[in-house]
Amino acid sequence: MNIRTRFAPSPTGRMHLGNLWIAFLNWLWTRQRGGKIVLRMEDIDRERCRKEYEEGILEDLSWMGLDFDEGPEGTYSYGSAVQSRRYDIYGTLLSDMEKKGYIYPCYCSRSRIHQVLSAPHEGETSPVYDGHCRNLAAEERQAMTKQPCWRVRMEESTVSFTDLFYGTMTRTLKAGADDFVVRRADGLVAYQLAVSIDDGDMGITHVFRGNDLLDSAPYQAWLIDKLGYHVPTYGHLPLLVDTKGIRLSKRQQGITIRELRNRGYRKEDLIGLLLYLAGGLPEPKPVSLREALEDFPFEKLPALKKKHIILPVS
Ligand code: GLU
Ligand code: ZN
Repeated sequence: MNIRTRFAPSPTGRMHLGNLWIAFLNWLWTRQRGGKIVLRMEDIDRERCRKEYEEGILEDLSWMGLDFDEGPEGTYSYGSAVQSRRYDIYGTLLSDMEKKGYIYPCYCSRSRIHQVLSAPHEGETSPVYDGHCRNLAAEERQAMTKQPCWRVRMEESTVSFTDLFYGTMTRTLKAGADDFVVRRADGLVAYQLAVSIDDGDMGITHVFRGNDLLDSAPYQAWLIDKLGYHVPTYGHLPLLVDTKGIRLSKRQQGITIRELRNRGYRKEDLIGLLLYLAGGLPEPKPVSLREALEDFPFEKLPALKKKHIILPVS
């Protein structure tokens, strides 16, 4: 099998240890298997994403020495690896889905659906929909004056996917309640749609990311399959949390890669810290990327089976 993975940051802030954790583990797993890794910019949320953050991510990754086979600069068989340059692709697939009756317009209140552009991280589960607009008659639709959002027309179905840490996951999706949003009323595509199209279109075989996205995986697996792509294997990694158990976020300035670098940390110190957190070292000590590749087989890192890993930061 030709292994293909991706690291898919959203440029909404400086890269921090939590992001580096995911990037490094993606890289380690892929490089130890001779696979290819894609750096995909998930910048569809134009209000929150900024060019300077995108540049910051590229700078931090290259300072760390983490290399990617495909990334924001290139053009590939699937087009660009930057989501904001893929609107045409999303648009074409959406009109196909509309023609096939896979999606329908929903005119319900916007407050329930405005969050859909970004990935639903911990504590941000999407609201259950009551299916209200599933069966509006053509006249009723025509009488509507506002722009609709678009939802998938889910049929009751059972989705299964494989997770390297959680095993075979099976979930029943319900008509109505699980009619998730794929396009916002203002025309922007939802995270769930973009990520599914991209993972499918880019031929991603293994998806490593934080386990706060585990609940999104059934929707994505369903959509990837519906679109005719191959459903990847997932690897939902433990989240790095602070001493209060809260996911590390861009608000904690002290843990950005730039800040750590300014404080004198070298990349070997950060790699050693990550390997220590992953259970590969009894205490942090400097480790080069080459040593990480040779001496720390990913599948032997014991802490990756945990749900959370505490990083003592405030
Ligand atoms: N772009 C998403 C984020 O940074 C990650 C999505 C994913 O890995 O599926 O939150
Ligand atoms: Zn509705």
